[in-house]
Amino acid sequence: MKNIKRVLSGIRATGRLHLGNYLGMVKGMLELQDNPGYEIFYMVADLHSMTTPYDQKTLASTAREVVLDYLSCGLEPDKSAVFLQSDLAELHTELMFYLSTVVTVARMQHLPTFKEKVKQYPQNVTMALLNYPVLMAADILIYKSSDVPTGIDQEPHLEVAREIARKMNEAFGTDFPEPKRFGTRGEYVPSLTDEGKMSKSVEGSYIQLTDDLETIKKRLAAAPTDSGRGQAVPTAGGVANLLTLVELFEGKEKRKKYEKQYVTSGIRYGELKTELAEAIYRDLKPIQEKRRELEKKPDYVEQVLKDGADKARKIAQKTIDEVKTKMGLKGGL
Ligand code: ADP
Repeated sequence: MKNIKRVLSGIRATGRLHLGNYLGMVKGMLELQDNPGYEIFYMVADLHSMTTPYDQKTLASTAREVVLDYLSCGLEPDKSAVFLQSDLAELHTELMFYLSTVVTVARMQHLPTFKEKVKQYPQNVTMALLNYPVLMAADILIYKSSDVPTGIDQEPHLEVAREIARKMNEAFGTDFPEPKRFGTRGEYVPSLTDEGKMSKSVEGSYIQLTDDLETIKKRLAAAPTDSGRGQAVPTAGGVANLLTLVELFEGKEKRKKYEKQYVTSGIRYGELKTELAEAIYRDLKPIQEKRRELEKKPDYVEQVLKDGADKARKIAQKTIDEVKTKMGLKGGL
């Protein structure tokens, strides 16, 4: 058991999973759960959902939708502890507080992710939002995780987690590993619009895992293109994004074929989009079938969450006890 490494990953409960989440995060999660060298913790970060405006009437059900997405993508509860962050809220937020003693306000305010959210929600620049990366560091470090399957956009937050681990180890003699990102081939899935990454907060940018073939076709039909022909293949914008999706779902050769067409006879985007929609749906169909089965078993899902939380709690509690002792809260006379 000595050399077993731990893995933590999670996603906020803010909606259904999309292809970016699937390729950038879930694929990495699946890869690691099949590796016997790892002990796995996958959570739904429902506390993180509260850092930006959210609907308290739907938070709990949205969190369960994410669990359904996880399980239908292939996370297996006997290999991976699947749980809700809020079921261990007292432990995760307690560690967040201890870790926050080694983080400056300025460091958090300068993070690009924080600045983006400030722009997006100028009326909601809360302490919870500022603390987002510290809570994420607590999520990771409470299990002493060394690997975190996540998209490239989370790199600044992982850097914060590494800094915190270093500072805690230096100041208090803890033994936190410096967590690194476990990247996948789809670590950056572009938007269907002409800029940025696929994101659930940008309408028109995403395809959800639950989309049927017609919906996928409709979403792709709205993706911007050009005349289909030119002297050089675009390296940014709508066409470049479509070609990246072609590569991710239909392979490199297919992409090369279209690139050649672009500088010769021209690409017919109608055909490209139909073929791409079919390729995406081929990947999603088995996930959707499994989801329909799981939707009929709410008790099973609750049991998975309970078992996952029980398993996670044992380790989380141990870390908290260690940190309290090392930081001087326990012991003495
Ligand atoms: P969103 O931007 O849709 O709100 P989140 O920020 O909740 O997504 O991200 C959840 C996980 O999915 C993170 O690990 C993130 O890195 C990954 N992810 C999100 N969007 C993409 C994308 N377009 N490409 C690759 N990974 C992504």
